[in-house]
Amino acid sequence: MSMNPHQQAVKQLEQVAELLRPQYKAVEPRFNAAIERLKEPDRVIEGELKITLDNGQTKTFTAFRAQHNNARGPYKGGIRFHQNVSKEEVKALSTWMTWKCAVTAIPYGGGKGGIIVDPKTLSPDELQRLSRAYTRMIADYIGAWVDVPAPDVNTTGQIMAWMVDEYQQLQTKRLLDNKNAAGVAENPLATFTGKPLGLGGSEGREEATGLGGVFVMERLAQSLFADTPKKKLRVAIQGFGNVGYWFAFHAHRLGYSVVAVSDSKGGVYTPNGFTPAEVLDYKKKNGALPTEHMEQISNEALLELDVDILVPAALESVVTAQNASKIKARAIIEMANGPTTPEADQVLFERGVFVVPDILANAGGVSTSYFEWVQNLQGYSWTHQEVINKLQPLMNTAFDQMWEMHQKTSASGRMSTYMNAVKRVVDTMLLRGQV
Ligand code: NAD
Repeated sequence: MSMNPHQQAVKQLEQVAELLRPQYKAVEPRFNAAIERLKEPDRVIEGELKITLDNGQTKTFTAFRAQHNNARGPYKGGIRFHQNVSKEEVKALSTWMTWKCAVTAIPYGGGKGGIIVDPKTLSPDELQRLSRAYTRMIADYIGAWVDVPAPDVNTTGQIMAWMVDEYQQLQTKRLLDNKNAAGVAENPLATFTGKPLGLGGSEGREEATGLGGVFVMERLAQSLFADTPKKKLRVAIQGFGNVGYWFAFHAHRLGYSVVAVSDSKGGVYTPNGFTPAEVLDYKKKNGALPTEHMEQISNEALLELDVDILVPAALESVVTAQNASKIKARAIIEMANGPTTPEADQVLFERGVFVVPDILANAGGVSTSYFEWVQNLQGYSWTHQEVINKLQPLMNTAFDQMWEMHQKTSASGRMSTYMNAVKRVVDTMLLRGQV
């Protein structure tokens, strides 16, 4: 039987712990206790949300919030609205958030939430009622210094705005009831990130994930492709949504040859490269990627193109045991979450394809959420350029630390990243004397 996502996260942690153990000989029982504790979230809040539908009937939805670890700072992670959400998935995703936040050393732990719902079946009013009901369920467990949710699959800035509003109403009520007055002193805007610009959101957030990935590619180019001019580095990107487009845009701006992109209907390829902004313009006007002057390719073929760098930026589990041996790229930058299956990962490692893992490559998103939180806490807004100037060194350092670990241990890019992240969390737990 295949493992559920949480069992996978635990297995991965056990593998990383084996690699780290020699460094903790002097405190081995405490190290082991920390690893045991990290196998389960600190807390999982679970509830049934009952909302009134537009037709007057009521409907109940199961919802979760997993708080994995807060040694390094408040729990942090998105809220997913999807019919396949499960407790085990939310637990696993909260664990991966702990590692992702540790990778760029932002002062957060890991959390994740979800509701089992297909949001396409709800009207905007029903969606708003559900979002508010979820906020009431978790209100006692979140806060700017406790747990800071954000958008994830199928949740938007609008949904964060409804949640902030509900949270603020509850806070005010507490003040009037003279309960928890300390909590009321917090800016409620700092309790959620990924908010619209008109309600405490941050400049730069929209492009942050793609741009963060391009900062990583710049470092990779200097390390792995030091002798190749950027113009000669061919990049293929699967996906042309938020992450894929901004990755393509900034890669082109910085001189790389973007040769292929795709959406759910298929891809386009030009061996000598193209201008992503023009392709986006075309797609906006015509509702589809260009059909002339560019070769039409399938999403499967895109993954196997003769390129230097492959960037999956759409779906999970697209690089599999079946196609891993056919990939011609020398490096993969994982912008989507979980695009490579564990079996494929092993094949790629044996073939010498260097993989920059998702928790590093796409960490620009959560890092800019952190900047949003800092601005909210200060009651002050930074300019777009200020945000970008802060993002770049964060991504550079995270890449350099991974590369150093890779050089020292010959471990894969993924393992090197996880070793740095888990070590950072364990060290903080030891400092706190929690184990
Ligand atoms: P999006 O919805 O904006 O874009 C998704 C893209 O994937 C679209 O171009 C869509 O056409 C394409 N797509 C859908 N089905 C496809 C298929 N079968 N084959 C190929 N392409 C397909 O989403 P996004 O925000 O760009 O997120 C993309 C990935 O990045 C997801 O895995 C997401 O979890 C991850 N991610 C996003 C962020 C963020 O800040 N947006 C942060 C971290 C990770």
